[in-house]
Amino acid sequence: MSKLQPARGTRDIYGDEARRMNAVVETFRTIAGSYGFEDLATPIFEFTEVFKRPLGEASDVVSKEMYTFEDRGGEEVTLRPEFTAGVCRAFISNGMQQNLPCRLMSHGPVFRYERPQKGRYRQFHQINAELLGPDAPEFDVEMIALAWRLLVKLGLGDKVVLNLNTLGDVESRMAYRDALVAYFSAHKGQLSEDSVRRLETNPLRILDSKDEGDKALVANAPMMSEFLNDHSREFFRVVKAGLEAAGVPFEHNERLVRGLDYYTHTAFEFITTELGAQGTVLAGGRYDGLIEKLGGPAVAGIGWAGGIERLAMLADIQTAQPRLAVMLPMGEAATLKCYALADDLRDTGLTVTTDRSGNLGKRLTRASKAGARFAVILGDNELEAGVVLVKDLERGTQDQVTFDALSVAVAE
Ligand code: ATP
Ligand code: MG
Repeated sequence: MSKLQPARGTRDIYGDEARRMNAVVETFRTIAGSYGFEDLATPIFEFTEVFKRPLGEASDVVSKEMYTFEDRGGEEVTLRPEFTAGVCRAFISNGMQQNLPCRLMSHGPVFRYERPQKGRYRQFHQINAELLGPDAPEFDVEMIALAWRLLVKLGLGDKVVLNLNTLGDVESRMAYRDALVAYFSAHKGQLSEDSVRRLETNPLRILDSKDEGDKALVANAPMMSEFLNDHSREFFRVVKAGLEAAGVPFEHNERLVRGLDYYTHTAFEFITTELGAQGTVLAGGRYDGLIEKLGGPAVAGIGWAGGIERLAMLADIQTAQPRLAVMLPMGEAATLKCYALADDLRDTGLTVTTDRSGNLGKRLTRASKAGARFAVILGDNELEAGVVLVKDLERGTQDQVTFDALSVAVAE
């Protein structure tokens, strides 16, 4: 080991960033809870098949980004590169189809072997919401409205734009796929190597290419909307009407496709211009065939995931300083008494630490620097008299109170 550094693309999270990331998760859990979502914590690793089958062999995630290894028992396992497949696996494993629709929220680390840069890591964190049940467009509206409310609560209402598209049902998508294959095959010479491969595996992904030559071709490619059948068109109409009624602003972006194979109908991304190429903060879509693909019942689903690091960077979060009291016992007997007194104060909601080193003046200076509201001084004389000195560092006042009255003395 040359340097004691975390592995490339991983980070230690602490201090202000940790507070901001926690605030994102707490806000998410509160708002999703108010929509009836319940917690689901799936394992961080699964059998590789759980991700490989639904995401598709040709997807970037499966072909280049997964952390896959054989464990000591010879099982092929993968660190989760996203939540949806694991959540659907859990839905099947636990027979949750008894109670539909099923609203599940999760959060935690996700792993992808990527080229690290600001806002792009190999271990990052997501909040994730999935709604499993009927394939009705009203659920799409509910899920997107939930995401929008969360973003507004995080102060991102003016910083993100909702890009919305429909990929249609399987029939529409097949028709579109054929049209794309015909179009791109005619221009094969101008396609990037990656996109020539995509032409075989998943031509829709060419629309998502970052290659400049591909982009020029994509500009004139056929549009999905020309290939939607009546059902898909009507589905999308109801989604848009619902979003308008719910007050969720969106832009129809016909070129939006999602990176994984399992999407149908609605696809969406909330994008900001403030994070450069890492501009997508929250994204998702409908995945009607996924649960069946995993061997489960014919239950449809829609879900989304938000990148906690990216949300925490952008969000308008006031991380409140806790109300702090510092105990200053002078001597061993006072130290012993302070254990119980500190707990009395914690019970009132204060954060309490104890400072036992140095003279009283030094300790008071440290307490002020730490932003403490109270310093609670206990010397031998006080101990004998059953009292403490409570200094209110904000008001500059000082009171002598009995042990029993301490909690009352620090009440707001
Ligand atoms: P991108 O186009 O940025 O690679 P993606 O389409 O791969 O994103 P999703 O699979 O939709 O991303 O994941 C949902 C969210 O997770 C993204 O919108 C983003 O906020 C976040 N995210 C994805 N990959 C990373 C990463 N490597 N590091 C940090 N956050 C990420
Ligand atoms: Mg990606």
